[in-house]
Amino acid sequence: MNKQILCPTCNQENDQDVDFCVHCGAPVGFISTIDPIKQIRAQGFMYRRVTRPDRFILYVGAWILFGIPLFSFVFFLVHGGILLKGLSALAVFFLGRVLYRAHKYYFKAKRNRKNS
Ligand SMILES: [Zn+2]
Repeated sequence: MNKQILCPTCNQENDQDVDFCVHCGAPVGFISTIDPIKQIRAQGFMYRRVTRPDRFILYVGAWILFGIPLFSFVFFLVHGGILLKGLSALAVFFLGRVLYRAHKYYFKAKRNRKNS
């Protein structure tokens, strides 16, 4: 009989030999952190968790991860030289987009929870 392991993200049981949870896609087990391709998949999962927050703590995490660099680049955009201003404009655009999406997703998820 196959041993079952619990997913740390959704608490569902998985076969011991899986690398990613069959229920939510979270990395489980050790191989997902060694294999480079699986590592990319695991990082992708973490990125999606942060950019699609469904809990307040993940929403705060998104602001800490992307908000602090965003405000630093806004500072460089105002006070930097021409090259730094160019690079900062790009960074502000991408970080702003990530945060905008996280914000939109969090409040959409919150609204869906209230309605159900
Ligand atoms: Zn899971």
